[in-house]
Amino acid sequence: MKVEDKVMDLAKRRGFVWGPSPNIYHGGLKGFYDWGPLGKLLKNKVENVLRHGFTSFSFWEVECPTIMPKKVWEASGHLEGFSDPISKCLKCDSYFRVDSVINEKYPDLDVEGLNTEKLREIVDKKKIKCQCGGDLGSIENFDMMMKTKIGMDQEAYLRPETATTTYLLYPEYFRFFRTKLPFGVFQIGKAYRNEISPRQSVFRTREFTQAEAQLFILKDQEKKYEKINDYADEVLPLIKHDSKSIKRVKLKDIVKEKYMKKEAYAYMVYVAYKLYKDMGFDEKKIRIIQHSPDKLAFYADDAWDIEINTDRYGWIELCGVHDRKDYDLKRHAEYSKTKMQVSGETPRILEIAMGVERTTYALLENSLVEDKEREWLDFDKGMAPIDVAIFPLMKKEGMDDLAKEVFIDLDKEFICNYDDSGSIGRRYRRMDEIGTSFCITVDHDSVKNGDVTVREIATMSQVRVKVSELKSVFRELLNGDLKFERIK
Ligand SMILES: [Zn+2]
Repeated sequence: MKVEDKVMDLAKRRGFVWGPSPNIYHGGLKGFYDWGPLGKLLKNKVENVLRHGFTSFSFWEVECPTIMPKKVWEASGHLEGFSDPISKCLKCDSYFRVDSVINEKYPDLDVEGLNTEKLREIVDKKKIKCQCGGDLGSIENFDMMMKTKIGMDQEAYLRPETATTTYLLYPEYFRFFRTKLPFGVFQIGKAYRNEISPRQSVFRTREFTQAEAQLFILKDQEKKYEKINDYADEVLPLIKHDSKSIKRVKLKDIVKEKYMKKEAYAYMVYVAYKLYKDMGFDEKKIRIIQHSPDKLAFYADDAWDIEINTDRYGWIELCGVHDRKDYDLKRHAEYSKTKMQVSGETPRILEIAMGVERTTYALLENSLVEDKEREWLDFDKGMAPIDVAIFPLMKKEGMDDLAKEVFIDLDKEFICNYDDSGSIGRRYRRMDEIGTSFCITVDHDSVKNGDVTVREIATMSQVRVKVSELKSVFRELLNGDLKFERIK
């Protein structure tokens, strides 16, 4: 089995990802997935890193409704411009995203953003057909917004991104942050896109979780941005739009060497990159790549994506960092007739947009390790779905009682699991397969001496630790302050 198939097999079998959902009804709907118990724990860990990470960089979390009236989406530009080129097979009636169909046959052909006439030319010239051999019918732009109704008749849409809903609170933020810019906010929540033929499992779904952060800033604050001085020597792996290779550039040199135009923007790219490193992604598997200027939205000044290398899909975008200038607040000020200016100037928005499910899946895939003895998940400490598993050697002679006590105590602080069935070897294997960082075994001596065996997943080595010290030892092990081999 190929690595990527192994990951999907593991994800289904051990309860990370199930679907398409709802599976019991005709095999489910394309583009919808369920996160099972372990997948949900892992996704929570990812969201925790993002939440604590953004907060540590002084962004404040908000939560907005996921449904907004039509007017909002007119103002944002989504109703007008948020669509995919679609065509129907004249023989079997299947619908396709034309750009994806072209790219499946010609992966190197750059068709993103081409209009319907240009796509028609390519389809005709390259004789691109449906899998059934049928011809593709007319190519039309299909609106990707999910429509709904509020009350009896008010037209509304499910948000296709969290960002727009976050912008609308600008007047409230301005008061909350005591009328001083720049300030940062973020939101983690669901968004919806009516993808026509979603194929890449959890990478392209119709309902998904985004984590998006915005820095509201004035024009003369962008160029020089003091906060980068705290991270001046941090190195970022950058690929310019006209280059093919990664250049490792220090944050303090990014503007000087003309990779980016504004220090505040470079800072946002660094924040996003730092969060991916904090989740435990291997530096060699991360790159930050610039959008080609002719592919930028008309209002955007610059855009770079964070990509992770996966076995299943190659380099895949997990995060975009966008310089949106003053487009959003200008539009919403105009459509809502609300003043959103600071001494005559409309604030600008620098934005980080992350896909949480994509990130979670990439982390799962990147963590799979096979060696001679076993197949296991090598998560960074603190990132595993389960931090500590607790096993009584046998369900008798006080071992189970002590193990339950240990479980109840540790579970207050860490994600724990109690398992008393099967041989110890089998229990270890079950935990290795899902990446549980540490296992505790309570044996005869534990009952007598008050200590237990702690085993680390990566090395499979074991040490005895006093029950009374378990909490403080795990606290340090899981935040990386203590190495396992240093425990005495
Ligand atoms: Zn067909």
